[in-house]
Amino acid sequence: MRINKDYHIHSKYSKNGHCKSEIEVIVQKAISMGLDEIAISDHGIKHILYGTSEKNLIKAKDEIRNLNEKYKSINIKLGIEANLIGFDGLTDISDLVVENCEVIQMGIHYGVIFKGIRGFVEFFLLNFLSKFIPPIKKYMIRRNTDAMIKAMDKYDIDIITHPGDKIPVDIGRLSKKAAETHTLLEINNSHKHLTREEIIIAAKSGVDFIIGSDSHDYENIGKCSDSLERLIQAGLLVNRVVNLEA
Ligand SMILES: [Zn+2]
Ligand SMILES: [Zn+2]
Repeated sequence: MRINKDYHIHSKYSKNGHCKSEIEVIVQKAISMGLDEIAISDHGIKHILYGTSEKNLIKAKDEIRNLNEKYKSINIKLGIEANLIGFDGLTDISDLVVENCEVIQMGIHYGVIFKGIRGFVEFFLLNFLSKFIPPIKKYMIRRNTDAMIKAMDKYDIDIITHPGDKIPVDIGRLSKKAAETHTLLEINNSHKHLTREEIIIAAKSGVDFIIGSDSHDYENIGKCSDSLERLIQAGLLVNRVVNLEA
């Protein structure tokens, strides 16, 4: 089994050397691997350490337009891996992102400034404490899941990246909302989420899945062996994963 599309590819436009790969090198590697479509999806603008910028999004868009002219055997899209930044469902998906990005993904990352003092304390401190204190975990699962559901209501999100990573969420509720809003859940090849157990829970909601390499180096694009292992262990049918070829 292999994937024919990879939408979770970082490039040199994620700042501070988070990824150094030029988009053209990524495209050449994707073609050599037989991928028919890719999306360059750098970190959202509000990620303090690695986020792209409005200027870089436009630069990447221009570059991608030229590369689509040059390489006819592959379709190259501009995407984004946006961040949740508020418990009211606020993200860094701006109008500029909506206008320019064809693949809108959203994930949880710690490198953001969370909205409001209460939001900040809950996102960073209570989510940390939830690892050790069950009542806090129970509370934060509800808060985190509500926030992601609100984000799916507010924005047209195509993919939730590595759901269940970083902060605890209720995968059952999250996947029901994702199924309703036609949002795909990612089985990320670089992070452990979705886990085998999470795939089993999510599959019951009728949601569809996508594998993302989450590559930070062009050498790793299209890689999916870890994701495959988890979905096979979970007994997930191939036709539930939109970019998987048997
Ligand atoms: Zn991520
Ligand atoms: Zn990523």
